[in-house]
Amino acid sequence: MSAAESPRPSLRHGRVALSIPGPSVMPDVVLQAMHRPMPNIYEGELIDVSTSVLADLPKIVRTDGTPYIAISNGHGAWEMALTNTLSRGQKVLVLESGRFAVVWGEMAAILGLDVEVLPAPSPHTGVDPAAVADRLAADTGHEIAAVLVVQVDTATSVRNDIPAIRAALDASDHPALLMVDGIASIGCERYEMDAWGVDITIAASQKGLMVPPGLSFCWANAKAHEARRTADLVSGYWDWNQRNDPDQHYKRYSGTPPISHLFGMRAALDLFFAEGLENVWARHEILAGAVHAAVEAWSTDDGLGFFIDDPAERSFATTTIRTNSIDVDELRRRAEDEAGLVLGLGIGADDPRFRIGHMGHLNPPMLLGTLGTVEAVLHAMGAPLGGSGVAAAAAALAPHL
Ligand SMILES: *Cc1c(COP(=O)(O)O)cnc(C)c1O
Repeated sequence: MSAAESPRPSLRHGRVALSIPGPSVMPDVVLQAMHRPMPNIYEGELIDVSTSVLADLPKIVRTDGTPYIAISNGHGAWEMALTNTLSRGQKVLVLESGRFAVVWGEMAAILGLDVEVLPAPSPHTGVDPAAVADRLAADTGHEIAAVLVVQVDTATSVRNDIPAIRAALDASDHPALLMVDGIASIGCERYEMDAWGVDITIAASQKGLMVPPGLSFCWANAKAHEARRTADLVSGYWDWNQRNDPDQHYKRYSGTPPISHLFGMRAALDLFFAEGLENVWARHEILAGAVHAAVEAWSTDDGLGFFIDDPAERSFATTTIRTNSIDVDELRRRAEDEAGLVLGLGIGADDPRFRIGHMGHLNPPMLLGTLGTVEAVLHAMGAPLGGSGVAAAAAALAPHL
């Protein structure tokens, strides 16, 4: 026996299962499409692919607005949205519902915006549209220039009701721009930018959109472009105007295009359109239903439980699970070290928790593998369990097979 050899068999050999809420599991066809030699960037296939990706991106969020692609993660899209539409000293209202809108607001403050945070009623609920309506109605001088909200908060797994938030602006005819971060949800959850009256939507490639991290997206409507005319936070790299300048294609990217990622994005969009957007959303709802059934079955007073109280507010893209008396670090460590399953870290100081991502390129064997492995580790730990989550998940999937 060599010194490195383990004294007992390890079950972690095999493909590592990644069940974190982004980056998600990438389809092989996307990875293969990215693995190609560099082409001419001034003419030919690259320009065709770039043009077709830009033409198809609005369909993903159902808008007639203009799409922009930045070479960045989601934080870059946050900055693109703010800098193209706002001016130093203007007020933005951040609708807190977990972590991510707050971080977007922190970025806005660094840019010199006046940031007000409207907290959610509790850490376990989403944005309260009535509270938003009250705050906007009180802003009779229309000082608030933009409202910032996430559709799904990846820390808590809450889904906010974007149409209800739009209605809250409309109730007082408030002119603020509505900016929605769909980084966790686009490609997983129903999203209707124009029908819902969203002015700016942002996303990133590595979650529901199934392309490795490196691209972010911003879709802007006519009202957002009107704001661009007076915005003084505009900076060279992010500027929509130069990206819209049609004389040279590279300007759409403020420089060399993200070649490999564009080929990957083309392959991902082809997968979306082959499956059909309605089916993509329905598949996520069904798979999320299996996760929710598992958590429900596992739940006990001192053990596992949902982080989000109201079933109607639970995301179809990711689920945050409270662990109470169960040692979450041990759960995650054993899952990864002993079984090759990577679970999402809990983000947030209070209540111990972990996260299961169920976004993007996902099917029942992948999901049941994750749920079954979690259950096995919980047994190994002697953790309190209400019942079998795997059995509940299988039963939830059965009517759809
Ligand atoms: C992941 C995520 C982000 C951050 O995206 P990065 O690509 O890491 O910058 C922002 N908002 C939401 C809702 C997210 O899920």
